[in-house]
Amino acid sequence: MSDPDPKCNAPRVVVIGGGVAGLTAGTFLARAGFDAAVLGGGESILRRNAHLENVPGFPAGVNPRLFADLLERGAERNGCLLEEGRARDVVPEDGRFRVRIEADDDAMDGPSALTADYVLAASWSDPEYLRDLESVDLVDRGSKTYVDVDDGGRTGLEGLYAAGRIAGEAHQTVVCAGHGADVALTLIGDSDVPFYHDWVAPEGYFTDRGRDVPPGCEEIDTEERRRRERESMALMAEAFETPHSDEPTTHPSHREDGGD
Ligand SMILES: Cc1cc2nc3c(=O)[nH]c(=O)nc-3n(C[C@H](O)[C@H](O)[C@H](O)COP(=O)(O)OP(=O)(O)OC[C@H]3O[C@@H](n4cnc5c(N)ncnc54)[C@H](O)[C@@H]3O)c2cc1C
Repeated sequence: MSDPDPKCNAPRVVVIGGGVAGLTAGTFLARAGFDAAVLGGGESILRRNAHLENVPGFPAGVNPRLFADLLERGAERNGCLLEEGRARDVVPEDGRFRVRIEADDDAMDGPSALTADYVLAASWSDPEYLRDLESVDLVDRGSKTYVDVDDGGRTGLEGLYAAGRIAGEAHQTVVCAGHGADVALTLIGDSDVPFYHDWVAPEGYFTDRGRDVPPGCEEIDTEERRRRERESMALMAEAFETPHSDEPTTHPSHREDGGD
């Protein structure tokens, strides 16, 4: 099947990896106006956790599988297209990228490739699909391989970024989420997309001071603020109503890579 139609005129970004870093990066990119697709080829390693206790905002912790589900819902609600499939390779083509997807008999409906202006790799623990790109350095450390990036998550190949654990960040949820956001902001800054901050401010916050609402920001009135609050309360009440049905994924020690 062919690549889904991109949004008109918006730069296209493909985020590889629908885990903590990838979904956070995708959320920031979609909210900034990018045509953002997140290619998810398997579950986040977070789904192995028993109870997540060090994420801000959850004083008694949170079920990590629920947290991962909510990350997916958030990315989708903010405009990311979530595609299933594993990246096979990334091919630079006329100043853009072609992300080819592994053939999978179970996912016949998915695209076989996605084209993009930018690629952001967030695919802990698989960087192999980048191996043929000469200007991208992969660093082997023990049984793990990381993507070498600068402080903004840029690889040696213009337009290709990496975030989260695959970029050598600490093996912690908030750190990898934060890195996903940080690298997304670097990418936005490197692009022509106008952007100041991703802020939702009360009506008049900028305009009452004679300022235009800066790009990336939004002002909302009281009615809209209340509507969004009610919507978020309903969504979270439903999400937290019953215990999550999934058990933690077990350690894949039978696999070749031995897991983490
Ligand atoms: C048992 C356990 C308990 C943990 N407990 C905690 C904790 O209490 N607190 C804490 O802060 N952190 C904890 N962590 C660590 C935390 O889960 C990770 O640091 C975090 O998930 C890393 O985020 P990431 O986005 O880099 O990787 P991930 O969340 O793993 O996301 C990577 C995604 O990329 C996908 N992918 C891989 N290859 C491809 C490919 N070729 N194409 C497409 N997609 C691909 C993967 O399937 C996955 O969905 C725990 C980890 C484990 C194993």
